[in-house]
Amino acid sequence: MKWFKGYRCALSLTFDDGLRSQLNVAVPLLDRYEFNATFYICPSGDDWKNRFRSWSDVASIGHEIGNHTLSHPCPCNPSENPRGHCLENMTLQEIERDILVAQARIEEIAPRKSYTFAYPCYETEVGRGIERRSYVPIVAKYFIAARAGCELSVCANSPKTCDLYKLLSWRVERTKGDTLIGLTIRALIERRWIIFTFHGIDEGHLPVSKYDLEMFLEFLSTYDDEIWIAPVCEIAEHIIKIRREIGIK
Ligand SMILES: [Zn+2]
Repeated sequence: MKWFKGYRCALSLTFDDGLRSQLNVAVPLLDRYEFNATFYICPSGDDWKNRFRSWSDVASIGHEIGNHTLSHPCPCNPSENPRGHCLENMTLQEIERDILVAQARIEEIAPRKSYTFAYPCYETEVGRGIERRSYVPIVAKYFIAARAGCELSVCANSPKTCDLYKLLSWRVERTKGDTLIGLTIRALIERRWIIFTFHGIDEGHLPVSKYDLEMFLEFLSTYDDEIWIAPVCEIAEHIIKIRREIGIK
């Protein structure tokens, strides 16, 4: 029970790419149910300060703002541009610079004591062939945890064994509220940390409907004495503390 502060499982709601529908729909819904979430943004562009001002307000009411790189590099394949700005064409130095520029901006928008990261397109490597390298060790230098994706049938994290720098998350685009509830009940039975990755709500890319999100939050509010619902950084900080106490990495 110590892993999750006496709760039976932990759950983080994460939202990627700083979409308008997250500000207009997700944040007001989360606030109504008094849940804090994690929003992974890419503070790019010359006018980033103006464009990302709203995320300061989101941070000030208790949500976590996390790093999703500056330029959101994804795998080159299946794009048709062999010289495109994409992961196979990048070096470790380039991805590190990209992450650090974003980080300086996020620290200005949303200051806090520790930060987490989300890999764009859930991909953790740069380069190709014999030059291919994981950039997980770079992320581990600057963050307390990082969220990747998951291709397995079970995508919830064991607090004892998970790599905090490559946390599994469920991609939930076009997922119904009933399914979100079922996955959460499974995490409850297995006593794991489940992380959901949302994008648009009702609009934008990879959407979930407002109806389904609201149904899910309603379910969570009836189980909030059993499920620890908190941003990624808060749960990661606690797991790090427990691992230190019992002497595991
Ligand atoms: Zn993204």
